[in-house]
Amino acid sequence: MTQSVPAGRVRPEDWLMVRPEGLYCAPADLHVDPTRPVARAVVTHGHADHARAGHGQVLATAETLAIMASRYGAGFAGRTQALALGETLSLGDVRLRLAPAGHILGSAQAVLEHGGSRVVVSGDYKRRRDPTCPAFEPVPCDVFVTEATFGLPVFRHPDDAHEVARLLEQHRRNPDRTIVVGVYALGKCQRLLRLLREAGYDRPVHLHGALEGLTRLYGELGVEVGPVEPATMAARERLAGAIVLAPPSAIADRWARRLADPIVAMASGWMGVRQRARQRGVELPLVISDHADWDELLATLRDVGAPRVWVTHGREEALVHAARGMGIDARALALVGFEEEGS
Ligand SMILES: [Zn+2]
Ligand SMILES: [Zn+2]
Repeated sequence: MTQSVPAGRVRPEDWLMVRPEGLYCAPADLHVDPTRPVARAVVTHGHADHARAGHGQVLATAETLAIMASRYGAGFAGRTQALALGETLSLGDVRLRLAPAGHILGSAQAVLEHGGSRVVVSGDYKRRRDPTCPAFEPVPCDVFVTEATFGLPVFRHPDDAHEVARLLEQHRRNPDRTIVVGVYALGKCQRLLRLLREAGYDRPVHLHGALEGLTRLYGELGVEVGPVEPATMAARERLAGAIVLAPPSAIADRWARRLADPIVAMASGWMGVRQRARQRGVELPLVISDHADWDELLATLRDVGAPRVWVTHGREEALVHAARGMGIDARALALVGFEEEGS
């Protein structure tokens, strides 16, 4: 039996398809988060697996454009166009709008309308409150394109305030030791700083040099993180009893060993997997994720109410299976090139 399509309605798969460069909207000549240089791209957020340099034109929020310029240099694209959240742009007979994704500063879902149907490409997202960006907005649609980074029932992230309380408890108990926390440079670092301030920690937090630029940019874009000081040059003794944030690559190497009797922590959704924490030599795993966990993924499928769901990067199979159990026509898109920056 063939499904009937109302007159004048075009099926989404006829105008939005997987190309080697990524998801492609043909009538707008527009790629979403392409992994190779294209003529025109809408970029959902600044993480490196979604935001690449070298496109002819980039459409994104002003914050994402600023993040890309800071990472790749001002000439990262032929031209750029900033879109405010909620603003609609017409590209031929396609309408494009950005809706908040709650993932990191500047993150957005791409809402595409054409031929009588609406497709929402969510990029990366989470449903919890994040003091560095507006909350995810569920947009009702015909097709919802979702990530599945933590798309297994074992992934259930605890409350972030609880994880920060555990960090501060270790800090209180170990006044002579340095706590070094591995954080992704874009998003996790600044969110953890804000969470520490909300928990009442008002002393300077020391930052590895690799985290300074984006943290300064967040400040310029209105996300206040309180007093921070460089950790790279600070004397070892001064860092006893301090909290130091560093990129994940630095927490287990010689850089971290220079610190005073360090307690190695890491803030990531992956810290819910004990083996991952052990592999990285993490003594204090903090489960703080910028991606939806299993319950958030399922709640989002219910909230957007899309009869069809396309699953992109992550653990696609389990989410496709669960969505089908909810009566949704779900399938995995074979998108390549997405890693896990900022998990
Ligand atoms: Zn991301
Ligand atoms: Zn991603």
